[in-house]
Amino acid sequence: MVDDSTTWFFVPYDQLNHEIFPWSEGNRENNGLILIESRMKGNSLNYHKQKLALLLSNMRHFAAEAKELGHPVKYHFTDGNYHDSLAEMHAEFGEINLVTPAERSLRVELMPLVEGGKIRLLPHDGWLTKREWFTETVGNTPPFRMDKFYQRVRKETGVLMQDGKPMGGKYSFDAENRLPWKGDPPAQRELFFGVDEIDNTVMRLVTEEFAHHPGNCDLSKVPTTLEQHNQALKWGMDNMEFFGPYEDAMSSRSRYLFHSKLAISVNLHRLSPQQIVDSALATNAPINSVEGFFRQMIWREYVKHVHDVTDGFRTLEVYDEHAREPNFLEQNNPLPAAYWGAKTGLNCLDEVVSSVMDEGWTHHIPRLMILSNFASLLDINPRQLTTWFHEAFIDAYDWVVEPNVLGMGTYSLGSAMMTKPYVSGTPYINKMSDYCKNCKFNPKKDCKVSNLYWAFLERHKESFKGNIRMAMPLRSLAKRSDEKKAQDVVAYEEILSALTEGREYSCGQLRLTH
Ligand SMILES: Cc1cc2nc3c(=O)[nH]c(=O)nc-3n(C[C@H](O)[C@H](O)[C@H](O)COP(=O)(O)OP(=O)(O)OC[C@H]3O[C@@H](n4cnc5c(N)ncnc54)[C@H](O)[C@@H]3O)c2cc1C
Ligand code: SF4
Repeated sequence: MVDDSTTWFFVPYDQLNHEIFPWSEGNRENNGLILIESRMKGNSLNYHKQKLALLLSNMRHFAAEAKELGHPVKYHFTDGNYHDSLAEMHAEFGEINLVTPAERSLRVELMPLVEGGKIRLLPHDGWLTKREWFTETVGNTPPFRMDKFYQRVRKETGVLMQDGKPMGGKYSFDAENRLPWKGDPPAQRELFFGVDEIDNTVMRLVTEEFAHHPGNCDLSKVPTTLEQHNQALKWGMDNMEFFGPYEDAMSSRSRYLFHSKLAISVNLHRLSPQQIVDSALATNAPINSVEGFFRQMIWREYVKHVHDVTDGFRTLEVYDEHAREPNFLEQNNPLPAAYWGAKTGLNCLDEVVSSVMDEGWTHHIPRLMILSNFASLLDINPRQLTTWFHEAFIDAYDWVVEPNVLGMGTYSLGSAMMTKPYVSGTPYINKMSDYCKNCKFNPKKDCKVSNLYWAFLERHKESFKGNIRMAMPLRSLAKRSDEKKAQDVVAYEEILSALTEGREYSCGQLRLTH
């Protein structure tokens, strides 16, 4: 029998926090928690096994921790969806409370129960910033630009401010944070976590019942208990000193370099954003690192606001209702098997994809300047790329992955979020990584990534007309000889056809076979 004095809360998979949500208020014995493992959700996308295991194990550990704290806990398993389970539970529990879900998909699914009075929606206090700080500085319509919002956040919170002015004399130290990494200072060793009975049960479940899903599954690589998330926080903070200068560097010797890996914890709310920011501010790290890190945490808030005010971009003109996607450059090539691990012979792409298949994670720059860059240069459909990111990354949820891929990684929103596309050729990859050292292509002789870059500009030059930030590259393109432009087209066609057919690329394939 259910006790009438209990208030019941449905706790979605990404609200796994014991302190910041309303169930921490008052007597915990009176705050009942409902958690639901939905097989339908697990199969709704081709999720990476590591992602499924991360979520399930964290939910199960959270439930065990909540019981220890005194909460009544109802842990429910279903083959169906959240809506149907909660509709049934309403008969038993009465009105169910729900902190507004971060994910649009869950909000949409549960809206009929909210409208029908079965679920009471509560505000989500797990964010650092208020919606009005965003709307008053950025607005509800494009162009969306981060700078004014960021400055407002600094002023409102007083973070890294002194006498109303930014510490160090400027708001951003980004220009100082672009060093390549040559092995010194040494990167911290990877953090491994103890694996308990819950983890082992979840790993067995995922490898058996989701055997057809991609990727590896190893819970010693990610935190699942609260104690482990706190260890992850310490590890992340120990990286802070060099986070800034090497923020953009990529290396096959260390996937992490000085990044925190804390998106995993904060997006599940195992750690709150405030806790992470307070920890970062308490380090003695140089200002370019602390400011850089804080700005990234505010990027996280910023993309959430953009996603919310545009209803996942559905309100934007560039959103095509019929195709259910924005696609400013009209890029429609299918996502090649290379993104699921088929080797391409392009070491930069192969290295980064193998990291994703292994653990569902890479840091920001491989996501932007390798994975998204290649997809843009090859005219891969941006929605297909976004779905892949959503499935393959362990920190991906609709509100964060869509703005990052559609708005930043590709130019599918046009200039709504970025002034120009993030695309680059060989010199950038060679400068910022050590990938070229182990590649069968020579970055100074026969690498074709720069040809892809020029071919991309040539194909889309009409779309960039009038864009001041693109004026210089377009001037350089105009000076490029016809002979070189013909080589660019060959490189594009050869690489695209090799990757589309799932085989390795070698120079001159088209000429040999034609
Ligand atoms: C194409 C693309 C796809 C991305 N997809 C995701 C995603 O699915 N989920 C996700 O959380 N982040 C995503 N990001 C943002 C960013 O790459 C990751 O948050 C970051 O790499 C996670 O690693 P970390 O925890 O070590 O972050 P750190 O480099 O240590 O940064 C600190 C924190 O800042 C936050 N952060 C930094 N940049 C961003 C950003 N652009 N958007 C949101 N939060 C940010 C994260 O919470 C992160 O934990 C994406 C970026 C790109 C370019
Ligand atoms: S040589 Fe070219 S293909 Fe090879 S790793 Fe470098 S940029 Fe990538």
